[in-house]
Amino acid sequence: MTEPDDQRPPPFGSLNELLRSSYSFLGYGALAVRLGALDQQLYGKWCRRCKGIWFGLALEVECPRCGNRKG
Ligand SMILES: [Zn+2]
Repeated sequence: MTEPDDQRPPPFGSLNELLRSSYSFLGYGALAVRLGALDQQLYGKWCRRCKGIWFGLALEVECPRCGNRKG
């Protein structure tokens, strides 16, 4: 009862929100869109060509904006 409850890291959904607001947001991976993946299942991925962040499932590697697969 004495433990402060506000020391935990933010939930993963909030991390994605932070990434979306901090970097240029490129969109979502094609597979994530097709499967209707939840935000908590998505990983933020950097595209060097677009200089921004997109979100996709763990196995997705292709930037939805430019098709770059090299990160
Ligand atoms: Zn790109």
